[in-house]
Amino acid sequence: MKEILTNNSAETQQLAAQIAALVHPGLVITLQGDLGAGKTTFTQGFARELGVQSRVKSPTFNIMNTYTAREFPIYHFDAYRLEETGAQDQGFEDYVGTDGVTLIEWPQFMADLLPNDRLALTFLRGNDDHVRTIRIQGIGAAAQVEAQL
Ligand code: ADP
Ligand code: MG
Repeated sequence: MKEILTNNSAETQQLAAQIAALVHPGLVITLQGDLGAGKTTFTQGFARELGVQSRVKSPTFNIMNTYTAREFPIYHFDAYRLEETGAQDQGFEDYVGTDGVTLIEWPQFMADLLPNDRLALTFLRGNDDHVRTIRIQGIGAAAQVEAQL
């Protein structure tokens, strides 16, 4: 497990860009943390580094957005609204861990669909408005990504 402190959203996006340079298609990245913790901000920096030009915003209402990056698609989930319904029977299996890189906000609401091998990020907010502690844990094969940070 690694723990990194960021002092503003630009630093969170820099960390995201650093991680983006290490990923491969099929990787799943879970982003845990409360509302406003920085999950979408991270995804913006991540997608930009991989060549996404359109604006990345939280897919709260449609659950998933797909972005075209240079080398593979990016699937961005916000599972918050699945708390009540569950994640079954919606075809998400066709995306998670397949041909692209998948980032999942609120992964606890898609627990059944998460592969064991994944890069698990946790965003923690302290008393200061702009400081975030970001915990990074590479599980299974994703340990290789964590080791390079
Ligand atoms: P989430 O997707 O987790 O709900 P967002 O990324 O949408 O959170 O929002 C995070 C908010 O916090 C943004 O307004 C961002 O500018 C602000 N912020 C302040 N400091 C940081 C930081 N260190 N990292 C990320 N976001 C930060
Ligand atoms: Mg969000």
